[in-house]
Amino acid sequence: MLSIKNKTLLSCLIVQSNTSLSITNPATAAVIGHIATQSKSEINSIIAAADIAQQQWKKTTAKERAVILLRWHDLMMENQDDLARLMTLEQGKPLAESKGEVAYGASFLVWFAEEAKRAYGETIPTPVAGRRLATIKQPIGIATAITPWNFPIAMITRKAAPALAAGCAFIGKPANQTPLSALAVAELAYQAGVPKALLQLVVNESSSLVGEVFCEHDRIKKLSFTGSTRVGRILMAQCAETIKRTSMELGGNAPFIVFEDADLDLAVAGAMVSKYRNAGQTCVCANRFYIHDSVYDQFVAKLTAEVAKLRVGNGLEDGVTVGPVIDENAKNNINRLIQGAVDQGATVAFGGQVLSGAYVDPTILTDVRHDMDIIQEEIFGPVAPIVRFSSDEELITMANDTIYGLASYFYSQNINRIWYVAEALEYGMVGINEGLISTEVAPFGGVKQSGIGKEGAKEGLDEYLVQKYLCFGGL
Ligand code: ADP
Repeated sequence: MLSIKNKTLLSCLIVQSNTSLSITNPATAAVIGHIATQSKSEINSIIAAADIAQQQWKKTTAKERAVILLRWHDLMMENQDDLARLMTLEQGKPLAESKGEVAYGASFLVWFAEEAKRAYGETIPTPVAGRRLATIKQPIGIATAITPWNFPIAMITRKAAPALAAGCAFIGKPANQTPLSALAVAELAYQAGVPKALLQLVVNESSSLVGEVFCEHDRIKKLSFTGSTRVGRILMAQCAETIKRTSMELGGNAPFIVFEDADLDLAVAGAMVSKYRNAGQTCVCANRFYIHDSVYDQFVAKLTAEVAKLRVGNGLEDGVTVGPVIDENAKNNINRLIQGAVDQGATVAFGGQVLSGAYVDPTILTDVRHDMDIIQEEIFGPVAPIVRFSSDEELITMANDTIYGLASYFYSQNINRIWYVAEALEYGMVGINEGLISTEVAPFGGVKQSGIGKEGAKEGLDEYLVQKYLCFGGL
Protein backbone atom coordinates (compact mmCIF):
# COMPACT_ATOMS: atom_id res chain seq x y z
CA MET A 1 0.00 0.00 0.00
CA LEU A 2 2.79 2.41 0.91
CA SER A 3 5.42 3.06 -1.72
CA ILE A 4 7.87 5.29 0.03
CA LYS A 5 11.42 5.50 -1.32
CA ASN A 6 13.20 6.23 1.94
CA LYS A 7 12.61 3.09 3.97
CA THR A 8 13.98 4.54 7.20
CA LEU A 9 11.00 6.85 7.22
CA LEU A 10 8.83 3.81 7.64
CA SER A 11 10.63 2.64 10.75
CA CYS A 12 7.88 4.40 12.63
CA LEU A 13 5.29 1.92 11.46
CA ILE A 14 5.67 -0.72 14.14
CA VAL A 15 2.92 -3.21 14.58
CA GLN A 16 2.50 -4.33 18.14
CA SER A 17 -0.57 -6.27 19.06
CA ASN A 18 -2.54 -4.86 22.01
CA THR A 19 -0.63 -1.58 22.08
CA SER A 20 -0.95 -0.35 18.52
CA LEU A 21 -3.08 2.25 16.84
CA SER A 22 -4.28 1.75 13.26
CA ILE A 23 -4.21 4.59 10.76
CA THR A 24 -6.83 4.87 8.04
CA ASN A 25 -6.67 6.51 4.62
CA PRO A 26 -9.70 8.83 4.49
CA ALA A 27 -9.79 8.55 0.69
CA THR A 28 -10.42 4.79 0.73
CA ALA A 29 -11.18 3.88 4.38
CA ALA A 30 -8.35 1.31 4.11
CA VAL A 31 -5.98 0.79 7.04
CA ILE A 32 -2.52 1.91 5.92
CA GLY A 33 -0.40 1.15 8.99
CA HIS A 34 -0.13 0.64 12.70
CA ILE A 35 2.04 2.42 15.21
CA ALA A 36 3.06 1.59 18.72
CA THR A 37 1.36 3.53 21.49
CA GLN A 38 2.82 4.60 24.82
CA SER A 39 1.30 3.88 28.22
CA LYS A 40 1.15 6.43 31.01
CA SER A 41 4.25 4.99 32.68
CA GLU A 42 6.14 4.99 29.37
CA ILE A 43 5.24 8.65 28.83
CA ASN A 44 6.50 9.43 32.32
CA SER A 45 9.79 7.70 31.49
CA ILE A 46 10.05 9.74 28.30
CA ILE A 47 9.56 12.92 30.35
CA ALA A 48 12.26 11.86 32.81
CA ALA A 49 14.69 11.19 29.96
CA ALA A 50 13.81 14.51 28.31
CA ASP A 51 14.57 16.28 31.57
CA ILE A 52 18.09 14.84 31.62
CA ALA A 53 18.65 15.52 27.91
CA GLN A 54 17.55 19.14 28.31
CA GLN A 55 20.16 19.76 31.00
CA GLN A 56 22.82 19.09 28.32
CA TRP A 57 20.99 20.76 25.42
CA LYS A 58 20.53 24.06 27.26
CA LYS A 59 24.32 24.34 27.55
CA THR A 60 24.85 24.20 23.76
CA THR A 61 25.29 27.46 21.89
CA ALA A 62 22.53 28.83 19.71
CA LYS A 63 24.83 28.34 16.75
CA GLU A 64 25.27 24.63 17.51
CA ARG A 65 21.53 24.20 17.80
CA ALA A 66 21.01 26.13 14.57
CA VAL A 67 23.35 23.82 12.64
CA ILE A 68 21.27 20.80 13.66
CA LEU A 69 17.96 22.52 12.86
CA LEU A 70 19.24 23.51 9.42
CA ARG A 71 20.33 19.94 8.75
CA TRP A 72 16.85 18.78 9.81
CA HIS A 73 15.36 21.27 7.34
CA ASP A 74 17.52 19.95 4.53
CA LEU A 75 16.56 16.35 5.28
CA MET A 76 12.89 17.27 5.23
CA MET A 77 13.26 18.89 1.84
CA GLU A 78 15.29 15.95 0.48
CA ASN A 79 12.43 13.71 1.56
CA GLN A 80 9.68 16.11 0.52
CA ASP A 81 8.02 13.67 -1.89
CA ASP A 82 7.94 10.77 0.56
CA LEU A 83 6.68 12.91 3.42
CA ALA A 84 4.00 14.40 1.19
CA ARG A 85 2.84 10.98 0.05
CA LEU A 86 2.63 9.73 3.62
CA MET A 87 0.65 12.83 4.56
CA THR A 88 -1.80 12.46 1.70
CA LEU A 89 -2.30 8.80 2.59
CA GLU A 90 -3.22 9.52 6.21
CA GLN A 91 -4.79 12.97 5.89
CA GLY A 92 -6.32 13.06 2.42
CA LYS A 93 -5.14 16.46 1.12
CA PRO A 94 -4.04 16.61 -2.53
CA LEU A 95 -0.39 15.72 -3.06
CA ALA A 96 0.54 19.23 -4.21
CA GLU A 97 -0.85 20.65 -0.96
CA SER A 98 1.03 18.03 1.05
CA LYS A 99 4.27 19.02 -0.66
CA GLY A 100 3.50 22.63 0.13
CA GLU A 101 2.95 21.74 3.77
CA VAL A 102 6.28 19.89 3.99
CA ALA A 103 8.04 23.04 2.72
CA TYR A 104 6.00 25.26 5.05
CA GLY A 105 6.75 22.93 7.98
CA ALA A 106 10.46 22.91 7.15
CA SER A 107 10.52 26.71 6.90
CA PHE A 108 10.07 26.97 10.68
CA LEU A 109 13.34 25.06 11.16
CA VAL A 110 15.28 27.65 9.17
CA TRP A 111 13.48 30.57 10.75
CA PHE A 112 14.04 29.47 14.34
CA ALA A 113 17.61 28.32 13.63
CA GLU A 114 18.20 31.98 12.74
CA GLU A 115 16.12 33.45 15.55
CA ALA A 116 17.88 31.29 18.18
CA LYS A 117 20.95 33.48 17.68
CA ARG A 118 18.94 36.61 18.46
CA ALA A 119 17.48 35.74 21.87
CA TYR A 120 18.87 38.98 23.21
CA GLY A 121 18.69 40.18 26.76
CA GLU A 122 19.09 43.86 27.61
CA THR A 123 20.69 46.25 30.04
CA ILE A 124 18.51 48.72 31.90
CA PRO A 125 19.74 52.16 33.09
CA THR A 126 19.79 51.96 36.86
CA PRO A 127 17.71 54.34 39.01
CA VAL A 128 20.00 53.72 42.03
CA ALA A 129 23.74 54.47 42.14
CA GLY A 130 26.00 51.45 42.64
CA ARG A 131 23.76 49.04 40.79
CA ARG A 132 23.63 47.58 37.30
CA LEU A 133 20.51 45.96 35.88
CA ALA A 134 20.27 43.43 33.08
CA THR A 135 18.01 40.71 31.69
CA ILE A 136 18.85 37.39 30.09
CA LYS A 137 16.62 34.84 28.36
CA GLN A 138 16.76 31.15 29.19
CA PRO A 139 14.91 28.06 27.91
CA ILE A 140 11.70 27.37 29.82
CA GLY A 141 12.49 23.65 30.23
CA ILE A 142 10.52 20.74 28.79
CA ALA A 143 7.93 21.91 26.28
CA THR A 144 5.01 19.76 25.18
CA ALA A 145 2.62 20.08 22.26
CA ILE A 146 -0.69 18.61 21.22
CA THR A 147 -1.46 19.04 17.53
CA PRO A 148 -4.39 18.45 15.17
CA TRP A 149 -4.83 16.32 12.03
CA ASN A 150 -5.31 19.12 9.49
CA PHE A 151 -1.60 20.06 9.28
CA PRO A 152 0.15 16.90 10.52
CA ILE A 153 3.71 18.13 9.92
CA ALA A 154 3.61 21.92 10.06
CA MET A 155 1.88 22.06 13.44
CA ILE A 156 4.65 19.87 14.90
CA THR A 157 7.60 21.80 13.45
CA ARG A 158 6.00 25.17 14.23
CA LYS A 159 6.28 24.19 17.91
CA ALA A 160 9.30 21.83 17.96
CA ALA A 161 11.57 24.26 16.07
CA PRO A 162 11.28 27.18 18.52
CA ALA A 163 11.43 24.79 21.48
CA LEU A 164 14.70 23.19 20.37
CA ALA A 165 16.10 26.51 19.15
CA ALA A 166 15.45 28.03 22.57
CA GLY A 167 17.23 25.16 24.32
CA CYS A 168 14.16 23.24 25.48
CA ALA A 169 13.30 19.55 25.22
CA PHE A 170 10.19 18.81 23.19
CA ILE A 171 7.54 16.11 23.57
CA GLY A 172 4.65 16.19 21.11
CA LYS A 173 1.40 14.34 20.70
CA PRO A 174 0.26 14.27 17.08
CA ALA A 175 -3.41 13.65 16.31
CA ASN A 176 -4.33 9.98 16.37
CA GLN A 177 -5.66 10.20 12.80
CA THR A 178 -2.35 11.49 11.36
CA PRO A 179 0.75 10.47 13.32
CA LEU A 180 2.70 8.85 10.46
CA SER A 181 4.13 11.89 8.71
CA ALA A 182 4.93 13.50 12.07
CA LEU A 183 6.79 10.37 13.18
CA ALA A 184 8.67 10.36 9.89
CA VAL A 185 9.71 13.98 10.47
CA ALA A 186 10.91 13.08 13.98
CA GLU A 187 12.98 10.27 12.45
CA LEU A 188 14.63 12.87 10.21
CA ALA A 189 15.35 15.03 13.25
CA TYR A 190 17.35 12.16 14.77
CA GLN A 191 19.21 11.71 11.49
CA ALA A 192 20.03 15.42 11.63
CA GLY A 193 21.57 15.04 15.08
CA VAL A 194 18.76 15.87 17.51
CA PRO A 195 19.30 13.61 20.56
CA LYS A 196 16.49 11.05 20.78
CA ALA A 197 15.63 11.79 24.38
CA LEU A 198 15.36 15.48 23.58
CA LEU A 199 12.59 15.14 21.02
CA GLN A 200 9.89 12.54 21.32
CA LEU A 201 6.42 12.01 19.91
CA VAL A 202 3.96 10.01 21.97
CA VAL A 203 0.65 8.48 21.03
CA ASN A 204 -2.05 6.80 23.05
CA GLU A 205 -5.51 5.72 22.01
CA SER A 206 -6.76 8.11 24.67
CA SER A 207 -5.74 11.66 23.79
CA SER A 208 -7.05 12.86 27.13
CA LEU A 209 -4.68 10.51 28.97
CA VAL A 210 -1.70 12.11 27.21
CA GLY A 211 -3.13 15.56 27.87
CA GLU A 212 -3.48 14.83 31.56
CA VAL A 213 0.08 13.53 31.88
CA PHE A 214 1.45 16.60 30.08
CA CYS A 215 -0.62 19.09 32.05
CA GLU A 216 -0.15 17.60 35.48
CA HIS A 217 3.59 16.91 35.32
CA ASP A 218 5.50 19.55 37.22
CA ARG A 219 8.74 19.16 35.21
CA ILE A 220 6.85 20.15 32.08
CA LYS A 221 6.86 23.93 31.91
CA LYS A 222 4.98 24.62 28.70
CA LEU A 223 2.06 23.27 26.71
CA SER A 224 1.43 24.48 23.18
CA PHE A 225 -1.90 23.33 21.79
CA THR A 226 -3.50 23.66 18.38
CA GLY A 227 -7.05 22.37 18.11
CA SER A 228 -10.59 23.15 19.11
CA THR A 229 -11.60 25.82 21.61
CA ARG A 230 -13.48 23.10 23.51
CA VAL A 231 -10.33 21.05 24.13
CA GLY A 232 -8.24 24.19 24.67
CA ARG A 233 -10.49 25.12 27.59
CA ILE A 234 -10.00 21.67 29.16
CA LEU A 235 -6.22 21.86 28.76
CA MET A 236 -5.95 25.38 30.17
CA ALA A 237 -7.94 24.29 33.22
CA GLN A 238 -5.70 21.25 33.65
CA CYS A 239 -2.57 23.42 33.36
CA ALA A 240 -3.79 25.71 36.12
CA GLU A 241 -2.72 23.25 38.82
CA THR A 242 0.99 23.54 37.94
CA ILE A 243 0.77 27.16 36.65
CA LYS A 244 2.07 25.99 33.29
CA ARG A 245 2.67 28.45 30.50
CA THR A 246 0.37 27.75 27.56
CA SER A 247 0.05 28.76 23.94
CA MET A 248 -3.39 28.14 22.52
CA GLU A 249 -4.17 28.16 18.80
CA LEU A 250 -7.88 27.41 18.82
CA GLY A 251 -10.91 27.54 16.57
CA GLY A 252 -11.81 30.31 14.16
CA ASN A 253 -14.83 31.67 12.35
CA ALA A 254 -13.15 33.79 9.70
CA PRO A 255 -15.24 36.36 7.83
CA PHE A 256 -14.35 36.97 4.19
CA ILE A 257 -15.60 40.42 3.20
CA VAL A 258 -15.88 41.96 -0.26
CA PHE A 259 -16.68 45.70 -0.49
CA GLU A 260 -18.20 47.34 -3.52
CA ASP A 261 -14.85 48.88 -4.49
CA ALA A 262 -12.97 45.55 -4.44
CA ASP A 263 -11.08 43.97 -7.31
CA LEU A 264 -13.52 41.08 -7.78
CA ASP A 265 -11.13 38.78 -9.63
CA LEU A 266 -8.58 39.16 -6.86
CA ALA A 267 -11.31 38.51 -4.28
CA VAL A 268 -12.46 35.35 -6.03
CA ALA A 269 -8.87 34.06 -6.28
CA GLY A 270 -8.43 34.74 -2.54
CA ALA A 271 -11.75 33.08 -1.74
CA MET A 272 -10.76 29.92 -3.59
CA VAL A 273 -7.51 29.50 -1.69
CA SER A 274 -8.92 30.61 1.64
CA LYS A 275 -12.06 28.49 1.46
CA TYR A 276 -11.30 25.34 -0.53
CA ARG A 277 -7.66 24.60 0.41
CA ASN A 278 -7.38 21.41 2.47
CA ALA A 279 -11.09 20.80 1.69
CA GLY A 280 -11.91 23.75 3.93
CA GLN A 281 -10.31 22.15 6.97
CA THR A 282 -8.08 24.88 8.37
CA CYS A 283 -8.67 27.12 11.35
CA VAL A 284 -7.97 30.17 9.16
CA CYS A 285 -10.31 29.08 6.33
CA ALA A 286 -12.91 31.64 5.31
CA ASN A 287 -15.96 30.37 7.15
CA ARG A 288 -18.56 32.97 6.09
CA PHE A 289 -18.72 35.41 3.22
CA TYR A 290 -20.13 38.94 3.41
CA ILE A 291 -20.48 40.47 -0.02
CA HIS A 292 -21.70 44.01 -0.68
CA ASP A 293 -25.17 44.11 -2.20
CA SER A 294 -24.00 45.89 -5.35
CA VAL A 295 -21.42 43.21 -6.29
CA TYR A 296 -23.11 40.17 -4.73
CA ASP A 297 -24.47 38.58 -7.91
CA GLN A 298 -21.28 39.26 -9.84
CA PHE A 299 -19.12 37.75 -7.07
CA VAL A 300 -21.32 34.65 -6.82
CA ALA A 301 -21.16 34.14 -10.62
CA LYS A 302 -17.38 34.46 -10.69
CA LEU A 303 -16.92 32.22 -7.65
CA THR A 304 -19.25 29.59 -9.09
CA ALA A 305 -17.22 29.49 -12.31
CA GLU A 306 -14.07 28.77 -10.28
CA VAL A 307 -15.65 26.24 -7.90
CA ALA A 308 -16.98 24.35 -10.93
CA LYS A 309 -13.36 23.70 -11.93
CA LEU A 310 -12.52 21.91 -8.66
CA ARG A 311 -12.03 18.17 -8.88
CA VAL A 312 -12.93 16.03 -5.89
CA GLY A 313 -11.14 12.73 -5.39
CA ASN A 314 -8.25 10.78 -3.94
CA GLY A 315 -5.46 13.26 -3.25
CA LEU A 316 -2.88 10.94 -4.82
CA GLU A 317 -4.51 11.27 -8.24
CA ASP A 318 -3.30 13.87 -10.72
CA GLY A 319 -5.60 16.82 -11.11
CA VAL A 320 -7.50 16.32 -7.86
CA THR A 321 -7.86 19.64 -6.04
CA VAL A 322 -10.22 18.68 -3.20
CA GLY A 323 -9.48 15.51 -1.25
CA PRO A 324 -11.73 13.77 1.25
CA VAL A 325 -12.46 15.35 4.62
CA ILE A 326 -10.88 13.56 7.58
CA ASP A 327 -13.64 10.96 8.06
CA GLU A 328 -17.31 10.23 7.46
CA ASN A 329 -18.33 11.80 10.75
CA ALA A 330 -16.83 15.08 9.58
CA LYS A 331 -18.64 14.73 6.27
CA ASN A 332 -21.96 14.08 7.97
CA ASN A 333 -21.49 17.10 10.18
CA ILE A 334 -20.78 19.35 7.17
CA ASN A 335 -23.77 17.98 5.26
CA ARG A 336 -25.91 18.55 8.37
CA LEU A 337 -24.88 22.22 8.35
CA ILE A 338 -25.72 22.55 4.64
CA GLN A 339 -29.14 20.95 5.15
CA GLY A 340 -29.74 23.11 8.22
CA ALA A 341 -28.99 26.26 6.23
CA VAL A 342 -31.36 25.17 3.45
CA ASP A 343 -34.06 24.47 6.04
CA GLN A 344 -33.50 28.00 7.38
CA GLY A 345 -33.96 29.52 3.91
CA ALA A 346 -30.58 29.35 2.12
CA THR A 347 -30.33 28.41 -1.57
CA VAL A 348 -27.83 25.89 -2.93
CA ALA A 349 -26.25 27.91 -5.75
CA PHE A 350 -23.70 25.21 -6.57
CA GLY A 351 -22.90 21.66 -5.38
CA GLY A 352 -24.74 20.38 -2.35
CA GLN A 353 -24.85 16.74 -3.46
CA VAL A 354 -24.30 14.08 -0.80
CA LEU A 355 -21.28 12.04 -1.98
CA SER A 356 -20.25 8.57 -0.86
CA GLY A 357 -17.22 7.90 1.36
CA ALA A 358 -15.62 10.84 3.18
CA TYR A 359 -16.07 13.24 0.28
CA VAL A 360 -17.95 16.54 0.42
CA ASP A 361 -19.24 18.28 -2.68
CA PRO A 362 -17.74 21.81 -2.97
CA THR A 363 -20.77 23.96 -2.29
CA ILE A 364 -21.91 27.58 -2.52
CA LEU A 365 -24.92 28.74 -0.52
CA THR A 366 -26.68 32.03 -1.27
CA ASP A 367 -29.54 33.86 0.45
CA VAL A 368 -27.72 33.17 3.70
CA ARG A 369 -28.53 35.32 6.73
CA HIS A 370 -26.11 36.19 9.51
CA ASP A 371 -28.28 34.49 12.16
CA MET A 372 -28.18 31.04 10.52
CA ASP A 373 -26.36 28.20 12.32
CA ILE A 374 -23.91 27.74 9.45
CA ILE A 375 -22.60 31.27 10.06
CA GLN A 376 -22.20 30.76 13.78
CA GLU A 377 -20.42 27.37 13.64
CA GLU A 378 -17.02 26.43 12.28
CA ILE A 379 -17.86 24.49 9.06
CA PHE A 380 -14.43 22.88 8.45
CA GLY A 381 -15.51 21.83 4.97
CA PRO A 382 -15.62 23.07 1.35
CA VAL A 383 -18.81 25.08 1.76
CA ALA A 384 -19.15 28.84 1.20
CA PRO A 385 -22.23 30.48 2.77
CA ILE A 386 -22.69 33.96 1.32
CA VAL A 387 -24.42 36.81 3.17
CA ARG A 388 -25.41 40.14 1.59
CA PHE A 389 -24.59 43.44 3.32
CA SER A 390 -25.12 47.09 2.47
CA SER A 391 -23.48 49.27 5.14
CA ASP A 392 -19.98 49.22 6.64
CA GLU A 393 -21.31 49.59 10.20
CA GLU A 394 -23.68 46.64 9.84
CA LEU A 395 -20.83 44.65 8.30
CA ILE A 396 -18.36 45.28 11.14
CA THR A 397 -21.00 44.33 13.70
CA MET A 398 -21.70 41.03 11.93
CA ALA A 399 -18.01 40.28 11.35
CA ASN A 400 -17.19 40.71 15.05
CA ASP A 401 -20.31 38.90 16.28
CA THR A 402 -18.55 35.67 17.29
CA ILE A 403 -16.60 34.28 20.23
CA TYR A 404 -13.70 33.67 17.83
CA GLY A 405 -10.95 36.03 16.66
CA LEU A 406 -8.36 34.20 14.58
CA ALA A 407 -8.20 35.17 10.89
CA SER A 408 -10.30 37.59 8.83
CA TYR A 409 -10.12 38.75 5.23
CA PHE A 410 -11.40 41.72 3.31
CA TYR A 411 -11.14 43.20 -0.16
CA SER A 412 -11.25 46.91 -0.93
CA GLN A 413 -9.26 49.39 -2.99
CA ASN A 414 -10.05 52.37 -0.76
CA ILE A 415 -7.17 53.22 1.57
CA ASN A 416 -9.38 55.02 4.10
CA ARG A 417 -11.73 52.09 4.35
CA ILE A 418 -8.82 49.65 4.50
CA TRP A 419 -7.35 51.26 7.62
CA TYR A 420 -10.74 51.71 9.24
CA VAL A 421 -11.80 48.08 8.70
CA ALA A 422 -8.37 46.61 9.54
CA GLU A 423 -8.46 48.35 12.91
CA ALA A 424 -12.13 47.60 13.59
CA LEU A 425 -11.92 43.83 13.02
CA GLU A 426 -11.45 41.99 16.34
CA TYR A 427 -9.09 39.38 14.97
CA GLY A 428 -5.47 38.40 15.51
CA MET A 429 -4.83 38.34 11.76
CA VAL A 430 -6.28 40.28 8.85
CA GLY A 431 -5.73 39.47 5.18
CA ILE A 432 -6.24 42.64 3.13
CA ASN A 433 -6.70 41.82 -0.55
CA GLU A 434 -5.04 38.50 0.30
CA GLY A 435 -6.51 35.08 1.09
CA LEU A 436 -3.39 33.16 2.14
CA ILE A 437 -1.58 34.83 5.01
CA SER A 438 0.36 32.12 6.88
CA THR A 439 4.14 32.45 6.82
CA GLU A 440 6.86 31.54 9.28
CA VAL A 441 8.06 35.15 9.51
CA ALA A 442 4.79 36.70 10.76
CA PRO A 443 3.07 36.21 14.14
CA PHE A 444 0.26 33.67 13.82
CA GLY A 445 -2.33 33.71 16.58
CA GLY A 446 -5.80 34.68 17.65
CA VAL A 447 -7.63 36.88 20.13
CA LYS A 448 -10.89 36.27 22.03
CA GLN A 449 -11.64 32.54 22.35
CA SER A 450 -9.34 31.72 19.42
CA GLY A 451 -6.39 31.58 21.72
CA ILE A 452 -3.37 33.00 23.46
CA GLY A 453 0.18 33.46 22.18
CA LYS A 454 1.89 33.67 18.82
CA GLU A 455 3.64 31.15 16.61
CA GLY A 456 6.31 31.87 14.03
CA ALA A 457 7.92 35.32 13.84
CA LYS A 458 10.28 36.63 16.49
CA GLU A 459 7.51 36.29 19.08
CA GLY A 460 7.38 32.53 18.50
CA LEU A 461 10.76 32.01 20.18
CA ASP A 462 9.79 33.99 23.28
CA GLU A 463 7.01 31.47 23.94
CA TYR A 464 9.75 28.98 24.89
CA LEU A 465 12.02 31.37 26.80
CA VAL A 466 11.83 32.83 30.28
CA GLN A 467 13.22 36.26 30.99
CA LYS A 468 15.43 36.59 34.05
CA TYR A 469 16.23 39.94 35.65
CA LEU A 470 19.72 40.32 37.13
CA CYS A 471 20.37 43.08 39.67
CA PHE A 472 24.07 43.67 40.39
CA GLY A 473 24.54 45.60 43.64
CA GLY A 474 27.45 46.94 45.65
CA LEU A 475 29.21 48.39 42.64
P1 ADP B 1 -9.90 18.87 15.94
O1 ADP B 1 -11.29 19.33 15.80
O2 ADP B 1 -8.89 19.56 15.11
O3 ADP B 1 -9.74 17.36 15.94
P2 ADP B 1 -9.41 18.64 18.74
O4 ADP B 1 -9.32 19.75 19.70
O5 ADP B 1 -10.48 17.63 18.94
O6 ADP B 1 -9.52 19.38 17.36
O7 ADP B 1 -8.05 17.86 18.62
C1 ADP B 1 -6.80 18.48 18.55
C2 ADP B 1 -5.80 17.61 19.27
O8 ADP B 1 -6.20 17.50 20.63
C3 ADP B 1 -5.67 16.18 18.76
O9 ADP B 1 -4.32 15.76 18.88
C4 ADP B 1 -6.55 15.42 19.70
O10 ADP B 1 -6.16 14.05 19.79
C5 ADP B 1 -6.27 16.13 21.00
N1 ADP B 1 -7.28 16.02 22.05
C6 ADP B 1 -8.61 15.86 21.92
N2 ADP B 1 -9.20 15.82 23.12
C7 ADP B 1 -8.22 15.96 24.05
C8 ADP B 1 -8.18 16.01 25.50
N3 ADP B 1 -9.27 15.91 26.23
N4 ADP B 1 -6.97 16.16 26.08
C9 ADP B 1 -5.85 16.27 25.35
N5 ADP B 1 -5.83 16.24 24.01
C10 ADP B 1 -6.99 16.08 23.36
